[in-house]
Amino acid sequence: MSERIRVLVSGARGRMGREVVKAVLGDESLALVAAVDHNGMGEDAAVLAGLPACGVLLQGDLTAAIAETRPQVMVDFTNPASVLENVRTALAARVAPVVGTTGLSTKDMEEIADWAAANETGCLIAPNFAIGALLMMRFARDAARFFPNVEIIEYHHDQKLDAPSGTAIKTAELIREERQAIRQGHLQEEEKIAGSRGGDFDGMRIHSVRLPGLVAHQEVIFGALGQTLSIRHDSISRESFMPGVLEAIHRIGACKGLIYGLDKLIF
Ligand code: NAD
Repeated sequence: MSERIRVLVSGARGRMGREVVKAVLGDESLALVAAVDHNGMGEDAAVLAGLPACGVLLQGDLTAAIAETRPQVMVDFTNPASVLENVRTALAARVAPVVGTTGLSTKDMEEIADWAAANETGCLIAPNFAIGALLMMRFARDAARFFPNVEIIEYHHDQKLDAPSGTAIKTAELIREERQAIRQGHLQEEEKIAGSRGGDFDGMRIHSVRLPGLVAHQEVIFGALGQTLSIRHDSISRESFMPGVLEAIHRIGACKGLIYGLDKLIF
């Protein structure tokens, strides 16, 4: 058997991090070599994920973890305030980041592209790892050729820090590739409560719903004369993201530079 890919999980104590730890431990071609989190230092990463102990204990310092365990790939599911520095640290050590954390700005992404190129290392930033969500985005882009009037409604759990979601932004960017920019709605429409019409992205409206009980869901609604078309994807559990994360871990080593969107890696 070929050498196992050495994986570090950053944010290993979080909701997504624990799921990634479980997925990596369940893949015989991968080796979990380190688990980093600001909380829970010294706890066994597998136990946190609901499995028998694996001997990989949570540590707080990413630089030290990389130096000690020599990972090839860092999977990051942390938060918008931490992710940029984590990616910089990983790329400086030529560890390929697979980033699920959302909330990075265009400027952040440009910086990451420069660091990835300078270190000749691959880096994936994927707003959504669920294959069904990638298909939803692709179908929405196709539909926009025929239906320029569109609104996006995304629904997430109420602990999410950024709005709109990375998936909604990526969907709007893909739709923009196909449709003429138009101003939607009545020219004289007036918001009685600020924000009622949602965020404006190139004339499209994006609405963010935050409620306990939700995971990650999105509906793209197109309207035309006498008809509407709704394209919807639901991540019912965080397991939905894991096949995409594993695929990315396997493929990122063969890449150089920044890749934005899992679709670029697998379609
Ligand atoms: P969470 O709050 O449950 O977990 C985040 C974890 O990161 C916490 O344990 C926290 O202690 C840790 N952390 C914070 N800063 C850190 C740092 N500098 N180094 C190491 N650990 C650090 O959040 P979550 O629900 O797991 O979501 C994490 C991120 O993933 C969010 O940005 C969310 O939007 C995103 N997300 C992306 C996808 C996708 O498919 N791309 C899917 C779901 C969630």
